[in-house]
Amino acid sequence: MTALSPSGPLVDGKLVETPHTITVVNPATGEACAECPAATPELLERAVDAAVRAAPAWAKEPGARRWTLETVATVLDENREALARTLSTETGIPVRDAAMEAAGAAAFARHRAAGPLPVDSVHDDERQRVQVRRAPIGVVGAIIPWNAPLLISAEKISTAFATGNTVIVKPSPLAPLTTALLGELLAQSVPSGVLGVLPGGDELGAALVAHPAVGMISFTGSIDAGRAIMAAAAPRLKRLSLELGGNDAAIVLPDVSGGAVAKTAAKVYAGAFYRSGQVCAAIKRLYLPRPVFGEFTEALAALAGQAVVGDPFDPSVTMGPVSNRAQSDRVRGLVEDAVAAGGTVLAGGPEVSGPGYFHRPTLVTGLAADTALVAQEQFGPALPVLPYDEVDEAVAAANDTDYGLGASVWTTDPERGAEVAASLDAGSVWVNRHGVVSPEIPFGGMKQSGYGRANGAAGLDQYSELKTVSVRR
Ligand code: NAD
Repeated sequence: MTALSPSGPLVDGKLVETPHTITVVNPATGEACAECPAATPELLERAVDAAVRAAPAWAKEPGARRWTLETVATVLDENREALARTLSTETGIPVRDAAMEAAGAAAFARHRAAGPLPVDSVHDDERQRVQVRRAPIGVVGAIIPWNAPLLISAEKISTAFATGNTVIVKPSPLAPLTTALLGELLAQSVPSGVLGVLPGGDELGAALVAHPAVGMISFTGSIDAGRAIMAAAAPRLKRLSLELGGNDAAIVLPDVSGGAVAKTAAKVYAGAFYRSGQVCAAIKRLYLPRPVFGEFTEALAALAGQAVVGDPFDPSVTMGPVSNRAQSDRVRGLVEDAVAAGGTVLAGGPEVSGPGYFHRPTLVTGLAADTALVAQEQFGPALPVLPYDEVDEAVAAANDTDYGLGASVWTTDPERGAEVAASLDAGSVWVNRHGVVSPEIPFGGMKQSGYGRANGAAGLDQYSELKTVSVRR
């Protein structure tokens, strides 16, 4: 087995052959690195049939499901290096960050293996016993974006298994290799039919959504595709989980001054530029109090200047390339548009020379709220930085958007931070941290950033039918 000569799709417990492939490009070189076997509509039919057949027995076996999830976690741990190398090759993220993603994926599986599904007791007295139980939906279609395919696949597989569903995973055509490798590694470890892995394009995702035997779609990706999926799911009222894009604001409060500036700037920098900013809940807009604007942006610019941008396998590199040509073009276009609108580039600017899709971490100031770099999700290493005079003004600017995934408040007074957090319209608001995601903590978007919640007990409910059992005594 080698990661870059991936085997075929996982269908009914077997790795199958297919005449079609997807050419995968290594963003560090701009060259093809693999031909990934691609699933066909016929393979989709077979995978759904197998998932439907496997579902009733799987639903009745919570012990076997927990044991399988422990095995999934072990397989992820034992193959961390191979998974990380594949992930780094196809996405360009530094290989140590890819290894962290693999470790996080195992943690999701282990968390979901931990216990039985909750049963809520509403009444339990001489007259009646009323309980709310969690019943599986059936077959879940899991559609994955390119930016964190291993973590997101593991999160969806783990939650589907824990709730008694079978699952078919369709990775992005831009980064299908790690998920294909995961399917290969799990082929012998999970019962036939309970997991399908089908690399393919958007049209295969649409076919999965349209399939009448698929009861739920768990989608992570762009808002546009989320809307299309919601519309396509409407005729059958399919269950949905939509984890969509964000434009997270970070607000630094006026108490951050003196020695706190450099310390806070380092944390904000990491929240904005980790994995080249290609994180759904990265800091994508930064609001600074006017008195420290110059000092804070200087500290950020110094950090950006120290970034070592290059080969993701080089241990001295702190930032790899942007993951694909389209995203690289988008980030460059947004920065050019911001400059044309009067913005000033404080750090970064031109791409690092070479054939890959390299950008230096870029800071842009002097922008109006309606500049595209401020108003839209950039999903890349270019951060707009905006001054404010009153905290209420920063909160209003942060909330003046259709996005509502995450936000953060930075302060020397955590209680004051929590007060400001209460007025921010986002599914997750962090104080003195940003983007902390963990299997036991619900995560998802308000407004157009999503529909439903992943992780925690809320994630289990999202993948379940809540079933009330009412017994008269
Ligand atoms: P995308 O929407 O282009 O593609 C995501 C997946 O959906 C791919 O597998 C694609 O093939 C499939 N797809 C596209 N159109 C479809 C359709 N009509 N029907 C069914 N499937 C379809 O997104 P992307 O560019 O891969 O990912 C980047 C986006 O994902 C960013 O906006 C980012 O913020 C978001 N994201 C959100 C979260 C979250 O948890 N909220 C996490 C990671 C990424």
